[in-house]
Amino acid sequence: MSIDLSTPPVPVSFEVYPPRTEAGWPVLHETIRHLASVDPRFISVTYGAGGSTGGRSLELLTHIRRETTVEPLAHLTCVGSTWAGANALIREFLDAGITSFLALRGDPPDGATEDEAFLGDLESAAQLVQLIDRVQAEREPYAEAPIPGVPGAARVDRRTDVDIAVAAFPSGHPRSRHATEHIDALLAKEAAGATLAITQLFFDADDYLGFVQRSREAGVTIPILPGIMPITSPARLRRTLELTEVPRPDALAAALEAEETPEARSAVGIAHAAALAQAVLDGGAPGIHLYAFNNHETVLAVLRDAGILSADARMRLAVS
Ligand code: FAD
Repeated sequence: MSIDLSTPPVPVSFEVYPPRTEAGWPVLHETIRHLASVDPRFISVTYGAGGSTGGRSLELLTHIRRETTVEPLAHLTCVGSTWAGANALIREFLDAGITSFLALRGDPPDGATEDEAFLGDLESAAQLVQLIDRVQAEREPYAEAPIPGVPGAARVDRRTDVDIAVAAFPSGHPRSRHATEHIDALLAKEAAGATLAITQLFFDADDYLGFVQRSREAGVTIPILPGIMPITSPARLRRTLELTEVPRPDALAAALEAEETPEARSAVGIAHAAALAQAVLDGGAPGIHLYAFNNHETVLAVLRDAGILSADARMRLAVS
């Protein structure tokens, strides 16, 4: 199975993270079941830089692969890894049947500077993209297809390519040394073999659309999927801005603060994310990727309000 963004209805996808405790698994499995019911093109699973979530990420990806018909997409980071370690990690995921990846550099541990931390053998996500492609080629140099009517015979085919997504930053990367470094980085990732980009969250459609235009002018040709995070409380907004260093959305912040109940704040966040999704689709986005925060209700409400669920998906949701 591979990721197809070319066929209707509007392609949607979700990001989830592995549970922090054993007790979190049953709830997350239920969330995955609901997310899968709207036929997303993939569900991506985050990976803790330095391997902090390693086993649990793979466990969750394997669950998605076995229990749903949705393509599982594995985030992998390379900061702090040796070549041998990264190679072994990629093989472990491929051996488990995972063939779609989001190749990331990952951030050095808190408090470590670029100079003092052990940043690892791979300097950028582009090198991880190349390594994933190389490991897959070594593991499966070609594919074999049975020849109908000739028992035991096989035709040698081109190997199945892995899908390799990469991160993109509509508002620039916080550590960029100049204004277009993040676009140069995206070009390098495409040249290394990336097939899809997924953006960091943003709050204004023009941030995404302007970024796509600048990327195209620079020569990027792969699809750039907008990453949208519904923000349903002032606390979540503060935390998200701290982590991502994305510019503060003043109007959304004021609207969230003006509400007094969690339900009313949630409605503000859902309406904002739904309007953003509609605006980027109107501007030509190839689909919508939603940061689900391991909660299906909010992201499914965004899709419903944005009017981008198929009639079938709406029906399945109603009975799920
Ligand atoms: P790269 O493509 O290698 O670099 C991107 C930019 O970083 C460059 O443009 C450059 O401006 C800057 N940069 C890189 N290296 C340097 C340097 N040495 N000096 C100065 N500037 C530099 N992180 C996780 O740990 N786990 C996850 O699961 C995860 N998922 C993510 C999903 C998405 C969709 C996004 C957008 C981010 C995710 N991240 C995750 C965060 C990501 O690892 C960080 O943003 C990281 O800092 C950059 O990763 P990259 O793959 O874009 O790196």
